[in-house]
This record gives sequence, structure tokens and C-alpha cells, in this order.
Amino acid sequence: MKRKQNISRREALRVLGVLGGAAVGSTLLPGTLLSKTTRVIQKKVPGLLKGPKRPPNIIILFADDLGYGDLSCYGHPTIHTPNFDRMAAEGVKFTQFCVAASVCTASRGALLTGRLPVRNGMTGVLGPYSKNGLSPKEITIAAALKTKGYATGCFGKWHLGDRSPYLPTDHGFDYFYGIPYSDDMAPNTNPTAISAQYWPSIPLMRNDKIIEQPAPLDTLGPKIHKEAIRFIHEHHAHPFFLYFPYTNPHNPPHPSKEFRGKSLQGLYGDAVQEIDWSAGQIFKTLRELHLEEDTFVFFSSDNGPWLFWKEDAGSAGMLRGGKGTAWEGGFREPGIAWWPGHIQNGVTTEAIASSMDLFTTSLSLAGVKPPSDRIIDGVDLMPLLRGEKASVRDELFYYVGKKLFALRKGPWKLHFHTKRALGAPTKNSMRLPLFFNLDKDPGEKYNLTERSEEYDVDNPYVHEIHKMLEIVKRQRASLGENNPPGWR
Ligand code: MG
Repeated sequence: MKRKQNISRREALRVLGVLGGAAVGSTLLPGTLLSKTTRVIQKKVPGLLKGPKRPPNIIILFADDLGYGDLSCYGHPTIHTPNFDRMAAEGVKFTQFCVAASVCTASRGALLTGRLPVRNGMTGVLGPYSKNGLSPKEITIAAALKTKGYATGCFGKWHLGDRSPYLPTDHGFDYFYGIPYSDDMAPNTNPTAISAQYWPSIPLMRNDKIIEQPAPLDTLGPKIHKEAIRFIHEHHAHPFFLYFPYTNPHNPPHPSKEFRGKSLQGLYGDAVQEIDWSAGQIFKTLRELHLEEDTFVFFSSDNGPWLFWKEDAGSAGMLRGGKGTAWEGGFREPGIAWWPGHIQNGVTTEAIASSMDLFTTSLSLAGVKPPSDRIIDGVDLMPLLRGEKASVRDELFYYVGKKLFALRKGPWKLHFHTKRALGAPTKNSMRLPLFFNLDKDPGEKYNLTERSEEYDVDNPYVHEIHKMLEIVKRQRASLGENNPPGWR
């Protein structure tokens, strides 16, 4: 006779002590409820896809603090983004694409290295007087692609260290033109922050030199855009990697004069529409140079909306939370891939994907082997983008700083900790753990563990929670592996 095993909330929380180093006191329970969430919808045309003639150019367009709901092709009613809408119509649009952290520095480090912030050391946010940056021992997409002769350029906001040896030119980029950290980290752009009064005014850099200080924000976007277009023209004959981390729409949003008043959502909406215009000009340039079939382009944003700024911030759509949290609103972003003739055309996918996958995908496209001396958390998206596989990953880890706040596996998301959004007025007082089915409840509103005071073995959620705790245990064990002493 099967013995009924009850697990109280106290016991469940004790089990969750694995996060603090305690042993997991249970074994895997049988059975599974995992449903297949990673189906591809709409059409797929793998038979018509070509193999590349040469390693493709790679362009990553990366907005700053733009939310999941801020493009018209993701449902925004008053911000118009016809170029991103067209990009989605001609490529693959993700509905479950997540970054690896919900703040700027940590998210960018993970994108460029394919490694979780807790592996590459960039877990927080750097400021103007930070003495550290992304370790020179980390390998960025740019550094990896240099080994295959790619020209590499970074245009926009870096935010992985404002001095050598942490600058873009120390990390595989031939060119850098932009600002070293966020546009609000200066007294002239953030007059209400006490700390900003002790910071220098915003510097504009070319490679490792400051060429203008303070850099006027209202002309920053057009200057950076122009340099990026010039980079494409100068390097169109050979493979190039263009990393374009926009300085907008991070607060304070700073659209240029031509875009002010063009949207119904104030300066924030204007700034998003200027990014859309810039992306449109990049596509136009690629077409004029006949590079569209030789260029892989991906668009996303580094983290969700900074809700502190209320109507002057972006929107995560139906998702909960924003920047700084482990809710989907902080991590899930628009994700659009484009490469005419080589990936699917006009497809929306519900497959789970991560910004770290762009590292592995870029190396794969360039024919570079991923480094074997360290753990890489990204996977190659190409089988998914070409329609050969319905999914390429099933798990996502949600770190906030150095602490694991949540884990996703398939449709399930288990929160071990929660945090209020940056600047939100009230503390979160929910009882932990929280457990959601993101397929049915993408807004994370209905906590499944609240349906019973006791976790019962016959309660199917217990099966999933135990399996996810085993995943956490394995993941924790992997941290630090292959990282030699003195790595950071
Ligand atoms: Mg950001």
C-alpha cells in the first residue's frame, strides 16, 4: 500500500535550504507533468532555406530598459515600430525570450560571454567610479569572432567597465564609439540623485579616449547611429560583427529633436520610435549593399522597464514586475531574429530562449568552436530558427545579484525569493516559495502552492518542485567549475 507522504510548508522551505547550502532531503518523485511548451506556431519552410555562402555578418541590436510590451508587434497600442514589425514578419519572433539578469551590467556581460553573471563576475551594476569591469579572462562574442577575421564594432552604451583593461577595445572590439555607462549616471542628466552630484558628466568615447564631455544627450543617438552605419559601409566586403547597444530608452529617455512629439507616449515612446527608425536604416543599408542574405540580425533589450518612472517608463505588457526583479517583466524581452533565406520567415515561436544563446549562436555561425575551458550557458539557436527543432532549451535561471531567485523548467517557474521592482513603493510580503505555470499564467498571478496548506505527494506540483530542486543542486555544484583560482 502506498504510504501517503505529506510535506508541510515548513518542510518545503527547509528543502529550499539547498539555496543556502543545506542538503536536499528528498529524492526525486516519479511522474512528470511537463507539457510541451516549445512548439513553433505558424508556418515553417525549412526546405527553402539555404546554407550560407560565407560566414554571415552578425548584428545585435540591444535596447536599454525596453519592456516586453513596448513594440507594436508585441502589442503596444501607442508606440509604433514598423521596422521591428517588418523584421518580425520576415524573421522569427520569440514570445519567451529572456535575458540573464534584469539590470544593465549583468545582462550585457551574460549576452557577450554566454555565461551567467555568477560565472563571469558581472552580477551587479557598475557606476562611474567602479574600479572593476568584465574580466579580461572572459571571452566575448567579439573576441571569439576576431579569430575568424571578423571586423568588430561596438556602438552605444558599454557598461562593463569604464577603464582599461575593461573597455570594448580590451574585449575584442576593433572600434568603440559611445558612452561607458548609463546616461543617468551624471549630475547634468540626473539632478535628483544625490550620488550623481559626485559623478563626472557623461563622457563620449571613441575607442579608449574621451572625445567629448559632457556629451549632450539630445544629439547622442544620431551620432552613434551615424558611426554604426559608417562601420557597415566600411566593412561590407568582409564579415563583420556589429554590436549596437542603444543608449535609449533608459531614463532619462533622450530622443533627438526630429523624433520629439512623434508618439503618444511622451519622450519614452519617442525614444523607442527613434530606435525603430535606426533599425530601419540599418536594414535599408544592408539591402542597398546587397548584404541581407549575408547578415544575421537579432533585436532585444537588456532588461525590463524601470517602473519607478511610471508613465515615463516602458511596459512589460501582461507580464508582472520590471527591472531589478525576477518576475517575467524584468527578464522576458522582445526577441526577433532576421536572416532572409536562411532562417524561417514570418514565424512566431513559443520556445524558451536566452540572451546567452546569442553567444553560442554567433560562434556557430562564424564557425568558431565554443571555449572548452569554461562552462558556457548558451546554446545554439540555429536548429530552432531554421525550423529543424521545436526547442533547444528547457531551463532558465533567474539570478538577482549573486542569489538565485527563481528557476524555470518547461512551463513551471519556482520562486525562492522575490524582490520589489527598482523604486517600487512597497515591499513584497508574499509567502515563499511561489510556483506558477507560465503557459497558463504568464502574468504570474496565481500561486499554485496556495491551493493547499500541505504539499501532498498526490499533489502533482510536488513532483515538479522536487525535480526543480535537484536542478538547482546540480547548477550550484557547477558554479566555480573550470574557473581557475584568481579568475576574477
Ligand atoms: Mg538596462
